[in-house]
Amino acid sequence: MDPTAARERLVSLWREIEDLRSVSAVLEWDQETFMPELGQEARGRQLALLAGLAHERLTATELGEAIAAAAEAAADDPELAAMAREARRQHRRAAAVPAELARELAEATSAALAVWQEARRRSDFPRFRDALARVVELRRRQAAAIDPNRPAYEVLLDEYEPGATVASLEPVFRQLRERLAPLIQAVAASGVEIDESPARGRFPVPAQRAFGLEVAERLGFDFRAGRLDPAPHPFCTTFGRGDVRITWRWQEDDFRPALFGIMHEAGHGLYEQGLPAAWAGSPIGQAVSLGVHESQSRLWENLVGRSRAFWRWATPIFRRHFPDHPTFDPDRIWPALHTVRPSLIRVEADEATYNLHIAIRFDVERRLFAGELEVDDLPAAWNEGYEELLGIRPGNDAEGVLQDIHWAMGAFGYFPTYTLGNLICCQLFESAAAELGDLDQAFAAGDFAPLLGWLRSRVHEAGSRWSAAELVERVSGRPLAADAFLRHIRRIAEEAYGVVAEPA
Ligand code: ZN
Repeated sequence: MDPTAARERLVSLWREIEDLRSVSAVLEWDQETFMPELGQEARGRQLALLAGLAHERLTATELGEAIAAAAEAAADDPELAAMAREARRQHRRAAAVPAELARELAEATSAALAVWQEARRRSDFPRFRDALARVVELRRRQAAAIDPNRPAYEVLLDEYEPGATVASLEPVFRQLRERLAPLIQAVAASGVEIDESPARGRFPVPAQRAFGLEVAERLGFDFRAGRLDPAPHPFCTTFGRGDVRITWRWQEDDFRPALFGIMHEAGHGLYEQGLPAAWAGSPIGQAVSLGVHESQSRLWENLVGRSRAFWRWATPIFRRHFPDHPTFDPDRIWPALHTVRPSLIRVEADEATYNLHIAIRFDVERRLFAGELEVDDLPAAWNEGYEELLGIRPGNDAEGVLQDIHWAMGAFGYFPTYTLGNLICCQLFESAAAELGDLDQAFAAGDFAPLLGWLRSRVHEAGSRWSAAELVERVSGRPLAADAFLRHIRRIAEEAYGVVAEPA
């Protein structure tokens, strides 16, 4: 078959899978935003039906043949070769899992979710134990079905971060344990209390929304191809090309959660809006991995949104939206955007301590799937991790091992992608600054186009053409490491807390 025909055949089959996924995304978005409580049962059934249809198409013999034909025709066509590679990866993963096991997993996670909610409410890990053990066992069997020759944990990781290995993650997390943990403990021991009053007060919700929208639009988020709506948990989802939904929540006495939440989700959205049009609906037209996705959100949230230069532009706009708030100058708000405080709850953690929350989860998950820990050992292992890395100990399991929904959903191997995002964003940002020159001057003028243009051409337009690790290396000229991130956190420790760390 000639490459053009092979590509057309593969993409026409793939586009239907993507469309089914997009339809599910619409229903899920609605479920998380506006659906009334009693719609739950019917919605669950509809989503299961769509998941089944997508699975059928993904595992179809016809698709397998189209992939083989594309791979064969791709000798002189690297783009088509990438499409065949990515399609084959997903096709094989799905086809390797027997339908019976997939059904058992769906039932076990749905049951575990309900039990987890109750167990967390009562702070009662033993109540959750059996349901969790069942999910772990099924995920182990699933991993063995997909690839019996790789460690189970790595196979699960591959679902969220294709190509990532335990061997590549271990040194990165070791570096964080060795370098970041002592720095955070030194900050905590410094006794410095940051004045957060510029960030606190009364912030009417309509004004917070208007401010967030103005900022997101200025960053480059295209509202002709997206929307912002309220939701209990902020997220970003895509319904296909030209329709990217972001959500937000707010706190009336502190503007930070809403603004940085919107900047975070807009960062995800900018990536989705920047994916290559020419590959839309094809196997490489999607975001490459969750880690790279998170790098885009964190970059806009933390490296742009919390910078002094950004606030030189944003302060007058802030004042226009919140005329009653006491005035502050951009340098005074800066420390309040960089508090570092060991805490027990991951989703409330700051950008420095956040990655230790993840280091603990990575360590516990890896040992669990390597057979070094049993499900019964999880609460103790969790608490020891917090004691060791953050110097604090959960008082109960609700603020410890039961706090996250991920394990009940069976999402083992998902957590590391958050830290990968934080590390990737710092490494990419250093490259952008080296190539583009003084970004501060542009930010202070409210000009984010040079940075967005750089991300578009280097990251967004690459789709899934390369693996995440290859992409990072191509763009930054070296493999992913923790040092750019550690430089960033060291600057915060020094400038906000006066804590000087020895260089790595
Ligand atoms: Zn995110």
